[in-house]
Amino acid sequence: MADEISKAQAARPGGDTIFGKIIRKEIPANIFFEDDQCIAFHDISPQAPTHFLVVPKKAICRISEADPADEALLGHLMIVGKKCAADLGLANGYRMVLNEGPDGGQSVYHVHLHILGGRQLGWPPG
Ligand code: 5GP
Repeated sequence: MADEISKAQAARPGGDTIFGKIIRKEIPANIFFEDDQCIAFHDISPQAPTHFLVVPKKAICRISEADPADEALLGHLMIVGKKCAADLGLANGYRMVLNEGPDGGQSVYHVHLHILGGRQLGWPPG
């Protein structure tokens, strides 16, 4: 956890990211869903038995910089997330999370939705 916080505090917005490379298939990822607007793949460092990311192909850096024109795309991420959660058997619930900036724990500056499930999740988050 401390490692995740230090990564988020050190991360800086700007430029291409690891997710851009995954979208372009330049580096491997366990992609299990793709359409014209987004991809979904399993997180490399899962924080729950099921932990995947839904990532728009458009490189929106962070949610605080999203444009009103991205409204439908951002809604699409949630619809894809809930469909994928159902496909992966998360019938008892799950959490969708979008981290923003250093204090929010964002470490990759390409907007993405986390979906975590398969165990009871605590609240409030740490
Ligand atoms: P953030 O901290 O920005 O909200 O979330 C970034 C997430 O991306 C983290 O949960 C991290 O484990 C995941 N991640 C970082 N690099 C990779 C990678 O190369 N492959 C995959 N599958 N996940 C990654």
